[in-house]
Amino acid sequence: MSTQPHVAVIGGGIAGLTLALELHAADIPCRVYEAVPEVSAVGVGINILPHATRHLTRLGLQDALAAVAVTTEKSLYFNRFGQHIHTEAVGRAAGYEWPQFSIHRGDLQKVLADAVRDRLGPDALLTGHRCTQVEDDGTGVTLSFTHPDGSTSTARADAVVACDGIHSAVRKQLHPDEGRPVYSGYNMWRGVAPWPAVLGGASMLRAGWLDTGKLVLYPIRDRVDDQGRQLVNWVVEIATPHHAERDWNRTGRIEDFIDHFADWHFDWLDVPALLRATDDILEYPMVDQEPLPWWGRGRVTLLGDAAHPMVPRGSNGAGQAILDAACLAGTLVQHPDVTDAFAAYEAERRPATAAVVRANRTNPPDAVLREVYERTGDQPFERIEDVISATELEGIIGAYKRVAGYSPGELQQH
Ligand SMILES: Cc1cc2nc3c(=O)[nH]c(=O)nc-3n(C[C@H](O)[C@H](O)[C@H](O)COP(=O)(O)OP(=O)(O)OC[C@H]3O[C@@H](n4cnc5c(N)ncnc54)[C@H](O)[C@@H]3O)c2cc1C
Repeated sequence: MSTQPHVAVIGGGIAGLTLALELHAADIPCRVYEAVPEVSAVGVGINILPHATRHLTRLGLQDALAAVAVTTEKSLYFNRFGQHIHTEAVGRAAGYEWPQFSIHRGDLQKVLADAVRDRLGPDALLTGHRCTQVEDDGTGVTLSFTHPDGSTSTARADAVVACDGIHSAVRKQLHPDEGRPVYSGYNMWRGVAPWPAVLGGASMLRAGWLDTGKLVLYPIRDRVDDQGRQLVNWVVEIATPHHAERDWNRTGRIEDFIDHFADWHFDWLDVPALLRATDDILEYPMVDQEPLPWWGRGRVTLLGDAAHPMVPRGSNGAGQAILDAACLAGTLVQHPDVTDAFAAYEAERRPATAAVVRANRTNPPDAVLREVYERTGDQPFERIEDVISATELEGIIGAYKRVAGYSPGELQQH
């Protein structure tokens, strides 16, 4: 019989499923309790950068991910007139040992869920289990659940990791007086549409700036129809005084933002045509939460968005959750006492992720767009070199990489 603690993982999103795979690889038994009755392809695109694909590769998932994702090679920056500001190689193309993937969130979740069921068995992921409360009595934890039919149940575990996302029930229980989400002043609309390859078909591009309208675009699936088109993910962000409550599934309306992009007809992309080709538009306010002074106590801790909700601007929501999971499994192996392991995990990951939350507010990689917007007074430029040097641009992007933990030097060392 295993002497390792039995860990209950609340939430079968990116964080919870990755954690289950990490625990399994470390011979630590666990079970995932997911609220929704069935794991389905919700959300749109996300990026996984080399600091996170490194761990997914160690877990043996790289080929499965590469089969459904786009392996991103370049990141490009433009102003709202379609003028090129900067290009940098990313992932393997930049010399990293691990790729950058642009992927549908549902495809990522499915790869993880399939691996959990394959490796841990069909009962390892229990859907239809919404956790409402956890109670740590010093020797173990009792979890309470509600089910889709209205019934309730309880389960027992040696330790609990809450990976239940931005509306985390456990975070609310542990931190009942936490403040409201902090609104950045920017609203986001996003969607996907089948589209011919843009700028080579392996490029992530960012254009414009938040005050007048910013676009982020990257392909997330290859060859989605007989014309060989890709599924292209787009996000627009615009300064907006009002916002709705955060809900990943809220429907958005094209008339609320299309005017900002009406004249974005570039030789490399007709932006209004792409936006109009989208069937389902989603809306999300750019909010985060002030970093917490502590995450968990005793046998209960938080992980992923439940621990550190961040503005989705630096391609790091999923990535930091994956880094959390790797760290937590490591501390559980190192420390025989689960409470020591959770304390060591929190000591490492809480300051690291708080720095990312703050950097996403102020200086994510797209701060290069702000620099050009401000220095040109939102006018076209003759030569980008007269506005900002390549060294300065690389400095801004490099500073974010160091905070988020994927600067090449840092990945070499660890
Ligand atoms: C529906 C949805 C759509 C998203 N779309 C995008 C997107 O388009 N782009 C983007 O960048 N990010 C998106 N995200 C967020 C992104 O997945 C996360 O930022 C990141 O991957 C960190 O993952 P996480 O597992 O911590 O949180 P999440 O991916 O949010 O996963 C949390 C999981 O916990 C489950 N859960 C919640 N409450 C309970 C409970 N009480 N008991 C049991 N289970 C519970 C949820 O159903 C979910 O499966 C989305 C998240 C969700 C849930």
